[in-house]
Amino acid sequence: MDHQAFLAAFPRLLSTTISSSPTRFHGFLNLGGQDCEICIEAPNFPYAQDVSISTEMTFLHLVQKNEELLKTNSSVTLVDYLKNLQEVCTKNTTTKFGQTFSSHLDCFVLLQHLEIIGWSKISTISTDFSHICFQMVDDENRKHLMDITLTSYPEGEPTVKVDMPNGLNFRWDTKEGLKGVVQQWEKTVQQHQELWNVLDELDETARILDPINPTRKHTKRRILLSNFVTVQIAVSVQHPQSLPQCQFLGASQLTRPLIATLTEKYQEWDTDRSIVNNLESILGVTVVRKSSKQLDGSDDEEEEDWGGECVVCYSLHLEDKLPERTCDQCHKSFHLECLYEWLRGLPTSRQSMNLIFGECPYCTKAISCKVPA
Ligand SMILES: [Zn+2]
Ligand SMILES: [Zn+2]
Repeated sequence: MDHQAFLAAFPRLLSTTISSSPTRFHGFLNLGGQDCEICIEAPNFPYAQDVSISTEMTFLHLVQKNEELLKTNSSVTLVDYLKNLQEVCTKNTTTKFGQTFSSHLDCFVLLQHLEIIGWSKISTISTDFSHICFQMVDDENRKHLMDITLTSYPEGEPTVKVDMPNGLNFRWDTKEGLKGVVQQWEKTVQQHQELWNVLDELDETARILDPINPTRKHTKRRILLSNFVTVQIAVSVQHPQSLPQCQFLGASQLTRPLIATLTEKYQEWDTDRSIVNNLESILGVTVVRKSSKQLDGSDDEEEEDWGGECVVCYSLHLEDKLPERTCDQCHKSFHLECLYEWLRGLPTSRQSMNLIFGECPYCTKAISCKVPA
């Protein structure tokens, strides 16, 4: 009876097992307006539970998604399941299992386009197809992701999120669809290879103080020069190997000669050398290496005292801020907020306009600081 009902609903799907309760079917099913060859394994016929289906690539994703839904719907019959699958595959439909597809998303066109792009380039895709994450690996084996949000397809321009210095400037062409965006993204990633090579080399060599977790969009790094000076390096996106913008931070008697030397000798910047090599050779300083701990083999828990941490709160980062005030006498550093709070608590401190004057928390020599904004 169940088998007859099934045959009545899908006359072109024939059982390949001779039994009143068949478990295997082979034939054609109309999916998304076209006849697709389909093989069905239904161990719990007439129920669809644990069904497995193989069909054309274009619909495989939908089939797999439907299979996921089945896991929580053990009482769905195979007839209902296949009817639901047909509905899902027909554009602008709402599935029975509560998945609503945006009526502005032409899923059939989208799936065809994704097929052309290649499923291997897709990292994740949301069940309603509105969010797609593409993946790629560049020449240097760096992995990149692109998040796409679709509100309508193929007419509407998607929202694109990438981890690159200036985002992705793409031209939207409804005929090309996502394929065009993926191509422009891949091209832009290739164009940034030199930049990321330079930054990767810097990250692998120098101790990076900021950002805490640099990603591909970050072109600035704050590194540690000698015990008391840090320098923020802003690498040029267009000419990554050229002299970067360097902003020194530390006691003025230490930073002033560095700025003077760099201004005088900037033409000695050699684009064939790394940033670290250039800085060391031009400025005559040592850049603190990333893994000095590993290099000398010690497993000292404490970061060695390099003088960069705030002497008031004993940490480097206060939220995402670095110590930006340095005592000219003892060269110790402070977060602006920490120093201000410290000075404010001293009975001897005095405030004038937006400056507060008092004694250095470390060496008790005179120090002043701006009132934080
Ligand atoms: Zn602090
Ligand atoms: Zn001091």
